[in-house]
Amino acid sequence: MHELSIAYNLVEIAVETAEQNHLQKVDVLHVKIGVLSGVVKEALEFSFDIAAQGTPIEGAKLVVHEVPLKIFCPNCQKMHVLKKPIPLVCPECRQRTGEIVEGKEIELYSLEGGDVLEPSD
Ligand SMILES: [Zn+2]
Repeated sequence: MHELSIAYNLVEIAVETAEQNHLQKVDVLHVKIGVLSGVVKEALEFSFDIAAQGTPIEGAKLVVHEVPLKIFCPNCQKMHVLKKPIPLVCPECRQRTGEIVEGKEIELYSLEGGDVLEPSD
């Protein structure tokens, strides 16, 4: 399952980030998922709970923010947000474009936690 390996990856990054920021506890993880990433939100939420088991962030909540597809049209010289990822054409001039600016990412961008530990040294 695609989402499970992504979930393990996110848990690993979150644990590292929490350690670096001296967070004793992580309550919420915010993740950006592009519409073209191929990730199913519900499957990722489910997989996350499994991946987090037995780690320092077990019990944390995963909040998925879906990122729409944004393209750059070389013809209009503008960015456009596409409501539907297919077909990849500019909504204004209908020209095909392969320049995807956003919408493919899988990114942990914020952690909420409590009990900040003071560095002991
Ligand atoms: Zn255009």
